[in-house]
Parts: sequence; structure tokens; C-alpha cells
Amino acid sequence: MNGQTIDAQRKPLRGRRARPSSVDPCNAARSGDGLYCAASLGAPADSQLYLCRARRTVRVTACAHGCTVHPPGTPDECTSAPDSGAAFYLPLACGRSAPVLQGHHGSFSHNGMNTWAYDFTLPRGTPVYAMESGRVTHVRSAERPGSACWNGGGRRCIEHSNYLSILHADGSRTSYLHLDAPEVARGAIVQRGQRIGRSGNTGFSTRPHLHVQRQSNCARWFCQSRPLSFRDAGMPTTGAHVTSRNCP
Ligand SMILES: [Zn+2]
Repeated sequence: MNGQTIDAQRKPLRGRRARPSSVDPCNAARSGDGLYCAASLGAPADSQLYLCRARRTVRVTACAHGCTVHPPGTPDECTSAPDSGAAFYLPLACGRSAPVLQGHHGSFSHNGMNTWAYDFTLPRGTPVYAMESGRVTHVRSAERPGSACWNGGGRRCIEHSNYLSILHADGSRTSYLHLDAPEVARGAIVQRGQRIGRSGNTGFSTRPHLHVQRQSNCARWFCQSRPLSFRDAGMPTTGAHVTSRNCP
């Protein structure tokens, strides 16, 4: 998220003293517990993000750059700060080409949190390169040859991918999934175009490929994706062939 949290503790409403103007905005939360822009709740302050639970306000965040409304079922979020020079390139070696197995809004699995992700078909062990400079925040390398989700698996393997995530100067993170092995440690500073790992087929995956996405910087390793456009490929669609200009 990108904003300042406001103490939302409200005095409990007492019986007849409650007036319509003091109805909890989260009473209008129609998609269950979660994050809602004020606009989604019909509340007047449109730059606020409500965390609703059981139709009660748990927390209100003032978004510095406005609030982005998503379709029902996808959590709303504070709008990210304008990009501060972030320049994302394909996660491939300079000059290497690859087919786009699934683009953003792909029908197989790029919806909800994954909406803006890209999958590239790559043979196992293909070197992977940083799409932009930043600091490594999350690394997982627990899957090893012979483990249950090493060679792809169904939804049960969704938390069993080897991955890494990099935080960038614009406040967003990029994540690289299904790796055979990350090659950088948590906390490392990496440069755009630096080799950071080898692709694989770990986790929720049906064939060797690399899944990348730009996402919010939330506490978890996997967060709501955000639009990602490559300087060297734009926003390629499923079936396209792309060629990396992620050159030194
Ligand atoms: Zn994917």
C-alpha cells in the first residue's frame, strides 16, 4: 500500500443516538472482507482505502495518489506513486527470444492477483535477468529435485514455487516464479540486467516456464499485480515472440 494509516477506532454507536450519517461505510462492502476504496462503498472521501471485516471498518488508509477500484472479487488498492524512472526490461539475456505462453489477463490463470503477469516458455535452467535494479526482498529455494512440487504440480503447489522478489525505487516489486534456483540472496542489491537465477518448473506449473509480475509491496511474497510494460516488448500478448534488449 502507499499511504498513511489513520486510526479508525470509532466509538460504538449507541442505540437511538446513531444517525444515518454515522453508518459505517463498510456496511456497503458487497464482496466480503477485504480492501475497498471509499468510492466502492459510496463514501465521499475518494482517496481513502477501507479495510472491512464483517461489514465493519477495521482500518482506513489515506492514499497519497488516489485509490484504484478493481472489479468485485479483486481487492481495491492505493494508487501507486507515478513511476520514478523505473525501466522494466524482459527478464531474459540480451538478444534472447522467447514465446509468451500467457500474457496479462490470460485465460488460464492470469486473473485476480495474477492479472498483469506474463509467462515465458523457457527450457529448464535458462538464466533469468533482473527486469530493473533494486533490492531483493523475498527468496525461496526450498524445492529440490525429488520434492513434490519440483517438477510442476497443481494448485496444491501454489505456495511451493522457488521464487525471488525485488523492490524497486518506484515502490513496486517484481517477482520471478517457478525457478529452479534463485542465485541472489535476500537483501542483495541487484542491477538491471544482472543474472539472478535459473528458470524451472517448480510450484503451480504445468510445464517449464518463467512467470513474472510487477506487484504491490505488501508483507507477503505474493501480492496484487500491477500493470507491467517492457521497454523492449511493450505489453506482449499470449502467443507473441519477444526478444530481450536487456543489455548491459
Ligand atoms: Zn503465470
